[in-house]
Amino acid sequence: MSLNLNLIPRLDNIDPNEKFDTIIIGLGPAAYSAALYAARYMLKTLVIGETPGGQLTEAGEVDDYLGLIGIQAMDMIKTFNSHVEKYKVPMLMDRVESFKQEGDSYVVKTKRKGQFRASTIIVAVGTKRRKLNVPGENEFLGRGVSYCSVCDAPLFKNRPVVVVGGGNSALDGAELLSRYATKVYLVHRREEFRAQPIIVKLVKEKSNVEMLLNSVVKEIRGDKLVRKVLIENLKTGEVKELDVNGIFVEIGFEPPKEFAKLNGLEVDEQGYIKVDEWTRTNLPGVFAAGDCTNTWIGFRQVATSTAMGAVAAHSAYNFINEKKGKT
Ligand code: NAP
Repeated sequence: MSLNLNLIPRLDNIDPNEKFDTIIIGLGPAAYSAALYAARYMLKTLVIGETPGGQLTEAGEVDDYLGLIGIQAMDMIKTFNSHVEKYKVPMLMDRVESFKQEGDSYVVKTKRKGQFRASTIIVAVGTKRRKLNVPGENEFLGRGVSYCSVCDAPLFKNRPVVVVGGGNSALDGAELLSRYATKVYLVHRREEFRAQPIIVKLVKEKSNVEMLLNSVVKEIRGDKLVRKVLIENLKTGEVKELDVNGIFVEIGFEPPKEFAKLNGLEVDEQGYIKVDEWTRTNLPGVFAAGDCTNTWIGFRQVATSTAMGAVAAHSAYNFINEKKGKT
């Protein structure tokens, strides 16, 4: 799912030699928040990202962001976007390939629109979906294998499906799918869930959801479409064949390890970008915010991302002023 938000890529006005105070890499909640705060600090700002809203494009209703009661994720993205547009921050839809320090600037190379320079960088690139890595997963992608319940649930009306995972995404997905599918098997490798208790309770109450705990997916089979998913019970070793037409893999996200490595950013043991409480990375003038970072022990929420985005803009502002003070 993507949004056409009429971003303002006022590229005609951007002289390639123009130097920005900060370039924000990403277009998710952390990036939008950083852009808003940077604009209010009157930093000359450019936002470059691929998907307005980032991972939020894959969410349905969001009811855990203070003040926006039961808002649809798409409306939330539009709200964030309008707020940044109000400050006329140029936003460019492109992929950042890399950035490197040249003198007192960072040069940011994009895939399509060339390169841009800035004194500071705010990295808010989010994360990528984790895969199961089982036979059939790649083969049946788009033919029954999905990574986004919110996007694809209606396609499985009156069909049985599997949802894999024990986090908020899987439980939200199971709840949503229970409204379309005839039967939802929720497969989770442990007995306890990571998801918020309120959603676990809701899913447990659904009469057409069956929980298969301590269980993992071994294989996905089918012809043109998915027909069977093989599930192994890790306690008994028993393998069950489920007759289903869809499998939703909602097992979390992978940090942007390669991007971090390419650009010399230090990461933690899992590959998340290491930042301190002021969102500083190991590189001077480079800050990072949101899901791609290692803070708050993996508590990745829209609220925590927007908070970090604000802190990152504040830190970029301080960095620039401290530098000015020294010259
Ligand atoms: P997550 O919280 O990382 O959970 C991933 C789940 O998948 C875990 O239960 C994990 O099992 C399981 N898993 C991981 N690798 C697996 C594998 N190879 N095979 C089988 N199972 C595997 O991911 P998420 O649910 O996608 O959520 C990502 C972030 O977004 C979280 O911070 C979450 O809170 C946030 N989010 C929030 C909301 C909300 O607030 N409403 C909604 C969606 C997402 P273990 O538990 O055993 O590790």
